[in-house]
Amino acid sequence: MKAALYKGNQTFSVEEIPTPKPNVNEVLIKVNLSAICGTDVHAFMYDLAPPETVLGHEFTGEVVEIGSNVTKLSIGDIVVGGGGTPPPGQELPQKILPRYNYRKMGFVPEKTRAYAEYTLLPEWNPIKVPDGVSEKQAAMCEPTAVAIHAIRNSKLKLGDSVLVIGAGPIGLLTIQACAAAGADKIYVSEPSLTRQNLAKKLGATKVLSPSVNNIENEVVELTDGIGPDVIFDCAGFPQTLDLAFNTVRRNGQVILVAVPWEIIPLEPADWMAREISFKSSWGSDPINWHNALNLMKSGKIDIDMMTENNKYITLDKIQETFEGLMKPTDQGQIIIKF
Ligand SMILES: [Zn+2]
Repeated sequence: MKAALYKGNQTFSVEEIPTPKPNVNEVLIKVNLSAICGTDVHAFMYDLAPPETVLGHEFTGEVVEIGSNVTKLSIGDIVVGGGGTPPPGQELPQKILPRYNYRKMGFVPEKTRAYAEYTLLPEWNPIKVPDGVSEKQAAMCEPTAVAIHAIRNSKLKLGDSVLVIGAGPIGLLTIQACAAAGADKIYVSEPSLTRQNLAKKLGATKVLSPSVNNIENEVVELTDGIGPDVIFDCAGFPQTLDLAFNTVRRNGQVILVAVPWEIIPLEPADWMAREISFKSSWGSDPINWHNALNLMKSGKIDIDMMTENNKYITLDKIQETFEGLMKPTDQGQIIIKF
């Protein structure tokens, strides 16, 4: 099968490797759609992935072979690659290790994932795509689960005002999840025009551009001089976290959703007297994948509109695509189609 192996130094090589065989408790999935995630772009950009790794974790595909002990999935099932509840003892280290450090422990070599024609998963891991959700929508299940997890991690209440910083795929999903959760006013800060327009279509009350507007002043003014109740940092740029702290209301909450890979300057004297709370939100939990598919099915999260400017590429375009994604972009979601 064809797979994109990460070779180190910001280099992929698309090679023929043996198609894996499932053991008794595993299923072999033929990957149909594999979305490129910002996490993988960071792994590439900062050279975090160990050489020979096959990345890719946002995917849908078809079960084509099952191990002899597999009972919950059958050949022909269309699944999303993740979201199942791990059995005791197989939980993800980032969810259970008391001193888990993502920067140092986040990119360990693991089995071939979904920048490949086929991938193996333990039976408990993939979940079946329900009727009423297309495979194209389901390919966005993991990032949708991340956005839902961020909202459920927050103090957001019915009628609250929020600011979402950054309207890339996670930001656009966060906007929709905030609306589904009952946020009254959803302000968005985003420099790209394409993404600004999508944010408006997907429920933003007002979209501001950090290259034109003074975000702190204008959002405070829009919230009657108080500041929004909750701010989601879905950009993770060096300046955005301090902006969030400066802008949030007294006793409000800042949720860090994006992963910043650089040291961030903070000026606490400006905002600490307002007794702000802060919480990081990490990935998602299995329940959030089901939440995501249900919200897609009910139409409360519109994947089709947000993926209007999606770009589909073939696996051999992976190198140039990742190089392009290292720079700020107004690109929609890029998906590898097999
Ligand atoms: Zn992801």
